[in-house]
Amino acid sequence: MSATEFRHARVAMLGGTFDPVHLGHLRSAVELYEALKLDKVLMVPARVPPHREAPGVSAADRLAMLEAGIGDTSGLVADGRELLREGPSYSVDTLAQLRVELGESARLVMVVGHDAFLKLAEWHAPERLFDFAHVVVIERPGHAAELPVALRELLAGREVEDAEALFAQPAGGVLRLALPSRMAISATEVRQRLSDGQSIRYLVPERVESFIQTRNLYR
Ligand code: ATP
Repeated sequence: MSATEFRHARVAMLGGTFDPVHLGHLRSAVELYEALKLDKVLMVPARVPPHREAPGVSAADRLAMLEAGIGDTSGLVADGRELLREGPSYSVDTLAQLRVELGESARLVMVVGHDAFLKLAEWHAPERLFDFAHVVVIERPGHAAELPVALRELLAGREVEDAEALFAQPAGGVLRLALPSRMAISATEVRQRLSDGQSIRYLVPERVESFIQTRNLYR
């Protein structure tokens, strides 16, 4: 790019419980970073009520595993901001905060897997999400259900075909992406395997596996 060309910053937020982070999350984040030519992908663990946390696994552990899993991966950042905030973690609040930090013209994207996308209309203030960000949906094996009516209404007129069309505006669009390596890994499966005493090798990064073993989590 020549010095005279100007490109708006492109930042994605991938929220989740990351309980624990696995290679499905991380590989998706890397492929998304490349496919959309992003400046960074913020991986943001949600605060969950203490009674809903996996026994013995605190929010601090989830963040530590995320940091260990990301390691030195270019473009990926573990962002603990929701853990510092009191009360429930609403994505719309996080996006509003990011919008203030990044400025009006930055291209901000909220990334969701298809399973999370199917429930989007039930989120807190779903229409306000689009005031602050685009929504990019990642296809996920085993999650190809019909879109609920409320979701279709929410999306009306927002879907675009490619990244170029999406990034013509700072926010408000929806893009569905099929990334190259669709991995059928879930945190539920990882937790189940650990509680059954089965191997999680190659489902999570080695450093995450070591962290889990050293601290005897999810047993
Ligand atoms: P759980 O099994 O506990 O529900 P999960 O594996 O779905 O967890 P989350 O932390 O809930 O993980 O997911 C965070 C985000 O990452 C969600 O938008 C989810 O759809 C997406 N995601 C999770 N696993 C994958 C995967 N294998 N491929 C693509 N997206 C994924």
